[in-house]
Amino acid sequence: MVRDLDSIDSIGVVGAGTMGSGIAQVAAQSGYDVVMRDVKQEFVENGFDTIEDSLDRFVSKEKLSAEEAEAATERITGTTDLADLADCDVVVEAAVEDMAVKQDIFADLDEAIPDDVVLATNTSTLSITTIAAATEREEQIVGLHFMNPVPVMTGVEVVVGEKTDDEVVEFAHAFAEDLGKETWESDDKPGFVTNRILMPWLNEGIRAYDEGVATKEDIDKGMKLGTNVPMGPLELADHIGLDICLDASETLHEELGDRYKPAYLLKRKVDAGDLGKKTGKGFYEY
Ligand code: NAD
Repeated sequence: MVRDLDSIDSIGVVGAGTMGSGIAQVAAQSGYDVVMRDVKQEFVENGFDTIEDSLDRFVSKEKLSAEEAEAATERITGTTDLADLADCDVVVEAAVEDMAVKQDIFADLDEAIPDDVVLATNTSTLSITTIAAATEREEQIVGLHFMNPVPVMTGVEVVVGEKTDDEVVEFAHAFAEDLGKETWESDDKPGFVTNRILMPWLNEGIRAYDEGVATKEDIDKGMKLGTNVPMGPLELADHIGLDICLDASETLHEELGDRYKPAYLLKRKVDAGDLGKKTGKGFYEY
């Protein structure tokens, strides 16, 4: 039995990085109280800074009033203590893309959060079924794969684990729609729909650059004008975070074989600490 969407007031978000802060912001803008948790206070503060910048942009573009932005900020509480999520009606996990970390978080959430609360993960590529196996409520675990940047992108991929209840899948669609998003559904297969198709495209763009096919600008321009996508592969990889791209590519490579091998240059950039927009440098400088 899961809670009725109408009775949901408070959302827990685990991780205050790129995605967690975006999910917290969107939930707060939709009128929910939000508790956003990260492992260190400085990461929680970074999350609030990201939210403030994003809300400011909405206000300056007149998509939101200053009062609405302030009200959204006031609905979000930050914490480093997982126990503070105990009164949340639904929890979305958006911590690092690492199975061991996610399983630990879900085992802790399973202890701390009442049984009828749905626990969702924003994982890009990891198995929902394997994450769920760390809990005693496998049927209540679902993938809610938000797109980056969460406040701007309208799509959410609902990922159905081996044991996810139909009622929980229905709840996940309805909850995402309540946050103003449109949904589609994927089975729990590596990379789901989006990253299974996106990651080889990004890696191929990086290889094309590394092998001297064209300048990075021309690769991005060619793909934008040639295939009508809003960003080329190198720009998009920077935007996602090169570490996130590498983690996702490695999971797909492990699960699906050689056609998913990460590009050499992607690994070299991550080793050098050039992770894209978030560190000020990836393929481009910011
Ligand atoms: P990020 O590196 O920006 O943020 C991750 C945050 O999680 C960090 O602040 C880190 O301190 C925190 N964290 C680590 N362990 C934690 C724990 N035990 N409890 C609470 N917080 C913890 O990463 P991100 O880009 O926000 O990605 C988060 C998740 O969302 C990943 O699973 C990723 O695959 C997925 N995702 C990312 C994108 C993207 O474009 N970046 C898109 C869709 C999904």
